[in-house]
Order: sequence, then C-alpha cells, then structure tokens
Amino acid sequence: IFIVLEGIDGAGKSTQAKMLAEWFEKRGYEVVLTKEPTDTAFGKLIRRLVLTGGREGIIDGARISHEAEALLFAADRAEHVDKLIRPSLEAGKVVISDRYFYSSLAYQWARGLDLEWLIDLNRFAIRPDLAVLLDLPVKESMRRINRRSLKSEFDKIVELQRRVRENYLKLVEMFPEMRIVNAQNSIEDIHNDIVGLIEEEILK
Ligand code: C5P
Repeated sequence: IFIVLEGIDGAGKSTQAKMLAEWFEKRGYEVVLTKEPTDTAFGKLIRRLVLTGGREGIIDGARISHEAEALLFAADRAEHVDKLIRPSLEAGKVVISDRYFYSSLAYQWARGLDLEWLIDLNRFAIRPDLAVLLDLPVKESMRRINRRSLKSEFDKIVELQRRVRENYLKLVEMFPEMRIVNAQNSIEDIHNDIVGLIEEEILK
C-alpha cells in the first residue's frame, strides 16, 4: 500500500503522515514513513536551494533555472523510488510519503514550466494507491507558518502559494488517485477523514 500526502506549506502534511503511520502500525502493518525532498545527496542539495516556496533556487550565490530545479527534484525522486519506495512495496510494507511527484507538478508548474513536460519527466514514478490533497486557503497556511520574511518576499510567497493551491486543485481533476481533504478542520478530524478514505478506497 502506497499513500502520498500533498498540500501547500503549512497544510499539516508531516503531522498527518506521522498519525497515519501510527494508525497502520497499530493494525500490524510494517510502515515506511518518508518524505520529499529526501535526506539523500540530491535531497540535501534541493533543501539548500528551496528554503521557502517563494524564493528562487540559488546555489553558491547563483540562481539556477527552473528547469534545472525540476530535474533535481526528479533525480531525487528517481533515487527515492529506486532505493526506498519500490523495495519497500515489494517487501509488502506500507509506504507513506510526505510529498511526491504531485508537488513537482504543482510547484514547478507554478514557476512557469510546461505541465506536460513535467508529467513526462515524472513518468517513472510509481503511482500511489491514494494521494491525499490537504487543502486549505493560503491565508490560513500563511497564518500557520507565520514566516518572518520581508514584506516584498512575503507577497511573492503568498502569490506562489496561491498558484500552487490552484494547481493542486486542477491536478485532482487529472489524477483519479487524488482525493481532497479539508485541512482547515481539527487535526483529529483530518486524520479521521484520511482514514475514512483509506478504508473506503484501499482496505475495502
Ligand atoms: O515539505 P517541506 O516543507 O519539507 O518542503 C520544502 C520546501 O520545498 C517547501 O517550502 C516547498 O514549498 C518547496 N517545494 C518546491 N517544489 C517541490 C517540492 C517542495 O518548491 N516540488
């Protein structure tokens, strides 16, 4: 079983991923809880350049192209699939990933890249059984993150998060494994909604 959690920054993905892992473990499943960008060499490089969703990718003082950024995310994902996701699924484990290729589609598309190119680039990525979009208004996500940024930077981040949220909602129409959960509810309610989807769609 392969489950992905998606959503804009501050949607509560990592909290929900942990709760879901515990839920499966209590039921006797072996669980691999993972995230993107990963902790591998490629993931660390990405974390150096993507500090926040609104900043430009910078390596050693120079801005890198959006295409290069997308390729780095794809390289990190290729390693993630090859070294962790595929072997874990083959061993019968439940894999829960905090972000996956839907993030690349939503974020890198929002940076102006061509969606079809991004989809082709990520075609190697095993499709999960369920991809939950934790959806919430950008205003609420910004309140949660409460970033101490410059005003000009803050505006840029808000604008990007808006586009990313819209993109995620469009992706739900394109990928049948995607489902929306209202991330404005309480942590417990969101968890119960996710579990409800898993019981309906996967453990039926
Ligand atoms: O989920 P996490 O907070 O670890 O993500 C790290 C940052 O990378 C986030 O700020 C997110 O906006 C950004 N990101 C991105 N493109 C992706 C995935 C994440 O810009 N494909």
